[in-house]
Amino acid sequence: MAIKIYIDQGHNPQSPNAGAEGNGFVEQDLTYEIGARLATLLRSNGNFDVRVSRPTPETSLGTSNASSLRIRVDEANVFGADYFISLHANASNNSSVSGSEALVYSSPSVASELGEDILLWLNRLTGLRNRGIVNRPGLYVLRKTQMPAVLVEMGFISNPQDAALMNNSPELFAEGIYNGILQYTGLL
Ligand SMILES: [Zn+2]
Repeated sequence: MAIKIYIDQGHNPQSPNAGAEGNGFVEQDLTYEIGARLATLLRSNGNFDVRVSRPTPETSLGTSNASSLRIRVDEANVFGADYFISLHANASNNSSVSGSEALVYSSPSVASELGEDILLWLNRLTGLRNRGIVNRPGLYVLRKTQMPAVLVEMGFISNPQDAALMNNSPELFAEGIYNGILQYTGLL
């Protein structure tokens, strides 16, 4: 039985639900590219059945923030995903803040353990600080998904080094998340 993974490339190409901007980059471009690369890695492995929220760079979901999120969650629930992985970039008013976080509905949980493995491997491959698991039960995509869901804040778009690394080396983030999934599912 293939393991079903829904990859949610956070945000839309333009408003509504456009992402954060920083250091000349936009979040939705980073999440699109890293998500596409993660999907390619998972599909080539042979053990996974993968869906992505934005199959093309032009794909735009919903007519509002709320409907954009709802469509992603509904797709994952109808797909019957085993795991929901939402990709985002963080932002801070302080440009020196750096690193990766994994947001989950609650911990300890399947999602938090998967998130810990993803963070471990992101740190190994990108060198960015592991900022750990954060419980965010109010987030729609964590609350409404019917499967373990991890929202990965891969790095800070507000930090020049994090932002450049996400843009220039998307393969490191894709491989880090991929290895974390493999480790959690016992396939590494
Ligand atoms: Zn975001």
